[in-house]
Formats: sequence, C-alpha cells, structure tokens
Amino acid sequence: MNFKLKILGIIALLSVTYFMAKNTVKKSFSNKLTQYETLAEEGQLAFGIPREKRVKVVKMVPSDPLYKNSAYYSAEDNKIFINEEMLNKVPYGCKRSIMFHECVHIKYGDTRATPQCEHRADTEGFYATECYICAHEIAVNRRGRDARNRGYLMTKDIDKISEDLKKQNKICSYHQTNKLNLA
Ligand SMILES: [Zn+2]
Ligand SMILES: [Zn+2]
Repeated sequence: MNFKLKILGIIALLSVTYFMAKNTVKKSFSNKLTQYETLAEEGQLAFGIPREKRVKVVKMVPSDPLYKNSAYYSAEDNKIFINEEMLNKVPYGCKRSIMFHECVHIKYGDTRATPQCEHRADTEGFYATECYICAHEIAVNRRGRDARNRGYLMTKDIDKISEDLKKQNKICSYHQTNKLNLA
C-alpha cells in the first residue's frame, strides 16, 4: 500500500470513530435531557410564559462556577442550566420542583439570586407543581440544609406547602400512578 493511501485510510478510520463517538455521546445526553426539557416546558406553561419567550435547557459544564447547584436560570443567556449528574440522583418530584422554581425566575425575569427572588421562586414554584408529593420530595431533599439567609425555604416551610396541596387533593399525573415514592 502506498503511503498516501495509508494516510487516507487512517483519516477515514479516525473520522468514523470520531463520528460514532460523537453520536453516542450526543444520543445518550439528549435522551436524558428530554425529561428536564419536558419539565421546563410544563413549568413555563404553568406560569403562562409565552412560547416566544420559552427558554432552552442546557447541561452545565463542571468548570461552571455555579456547578454546585442542581440548576439555575440565566437571564443573560436565556437558558436553564442543569447539573445533570446531580439531578439524575434525586426523585422525580425533586426534579419537577427544581424546574418549576427556575420557571418562576423566568416569569419575573430575575437577573440576580437575591434572597427575595429565591424565596419567591421556591414558594410560587412549589405551589405551582400542584402536587403534594412533588412538594414533599423537595421538602425531604432540603432536610438538614439551612439556606434561609439566601432566601430558600426550609423543610418545615415546604411541608406546609405540601399539606396545603394535600388538603386540596392536588397531585400530578406522575404521582397519581406512583404514590409509593412518599417516604
Ligand atoms: Zn433560584
Ligand atoms: Zn408529583
């Protein structure tokens, strides 16, 4: 085989490998992302955010200074950034509550994470899930964490929201069929 052909062969092989690797990564990511996109869509619909203002959900990179968060909304980028590794570990109701929290930021066009904004995003977001189990799951998730100084609700505050929603028999379609998650 002449040298030129050999090089071409190597390039072709590398291209195929690269193409396959790229598509595998892209595919496995987009499959998982769909769930968060669906929840963000549901949340934005719940808050009446017009279609032309709807934001995209993108994956955070580990070098992101806000990587310790499970999700955040950036008004500047008009995107919800998600820490997929972190979100994949929490129950569905947490994922849903977190995405609804971000949608409140979109609703008000919050540009900074002030305590007032975070308090409002938690309160309105968790009520808007219209599901006492979703609210319960985010309440459990907050147990042992105290971020009141940054405006976030504590477990007992979210329990109160969950109780209110339960009194009104509010439950999402997912938990209607998956009630066993209630711990
Ligand atoms: Zn927030
Ligand atoms: Zn639910």
